[in-house]
Amino acid sequence: MKKLKEVFSRLKRLKKPLLTENVRFSYPNQEVLKDISLNLKKGEIVAIIGKSGSGKSTFLKLISGIISTKYKGRIRIFGKPKFFEKDKLGFVPQELAFIPDLNLLDNIKIAGLNLGITEQTAIEVADKLMTFLKLDENLNKFPRELSGGQRVRFNIVLSLLHNPEILVLDEPFVGLDFLNRRLLWHFIESMRRKGKSIILTSHLLTETQEHVDRLVILKNGRVLFNGKLEKLKEKFRINYIFEVRFSHLSKDNFSKIKKYCIYKDTEILDNYERYIMFGVKTGRQRTALLSLFSKLNLNFSEISFREPNLDEIFLKA
Ligand code: ADP
Ligand code: MG
Repeated sequence: MKKLKEVFSRLKRLKKPLLTENVRFSYPNQEVLKDISLNLKKGEIVAIIGKSGSGKSTFLKLISGIISTKYKGRIRIFGKPKFFEKDKLGFVPQELAFIPDLNLLDNIKIAGLNLGITEQTAIEVADKLMTFLKLDENLNKFPRELSGGQRVRFNIVLSLLHNPEILVLDEPFVGLDFLNRRLLWHFIESMRRKGKSIILTSHLLTETQEHVDRLVILKNGRVLFNGKLEKLKEKFRINYIFEVRFSHLSKDNFSKIKKYCIYKDTEILDNYERYIMFGVKTGRQRTALLSLFSKLNLNFSEISFREPNLDEIFLKA
């Protein structure tokens, strides 16, 4: 019985598209990833979020085999070391990766060669991807003749010609307007329906939360959080955002409010001039703040009392 369980758990590990355990990685002058353990399930969309320099790109490049193999810890793709299963993975770099002097068709052929597939397959797959991403009828154009948003989408096409099981996208939404971002989300969600697993990074936190299954927050090369949005709200214990704009707010009164907040376990998430954003846990905390304002003789307008979005939770992280 125990043996059977072991076999099953081994099979489960083998099936997991991506598994990393205690991954550490350093550039010559700096340790960038300190202890990353993450997994990606089949048909899952995971977003890595973190401030600039927190190691997001380094992590994606490392799992995709773009940078050094000199890391500590384990990286497994479908249960195998990453250099055996690299063709199962499609990495879309943030930097555009096509050759400017070649037209799109030739770029597709070259990218296909690099990915180890035939010209014909490359062209067939590109055709489908380009139709989905609204890039058709452009094959004879040169990259410089595309708009910025078209270039970003073409960059994605080139990385996925080999029909990988895992899509790794580094900041894929940068440079896309609202409609194109929506188009790209549709594309990513359609890939998930096909059973692909997607790991991406993004700065657009509020928009990201609506589309992903799980969020991973990186801070200084460590996983600060890994889970669903609801769990994130719980971890940072903010249930509501309470925003207030005062008609006048002296330094003295601001420091009184600040002291009160520390004492009453209420967060000040943001403030400038006469505006304060509080993170509160209950309606009662809001009532208590309101009576503090009247005790201090402060005139104010209440801007909102609502659930927080991801950016606001992130302010605390
Ligand atoms: P993010 O994508 O989260 O903004 P990066 O992974 O690009 O973060 O960078 C993490 C840290 O590693 C930064 O401090 C950055 O300066 C450093 N770094 C990135 N690339 C290199 C490199 N090729 N050589 C040395 N340091 C690098
Ligand atoms: Mg980056």
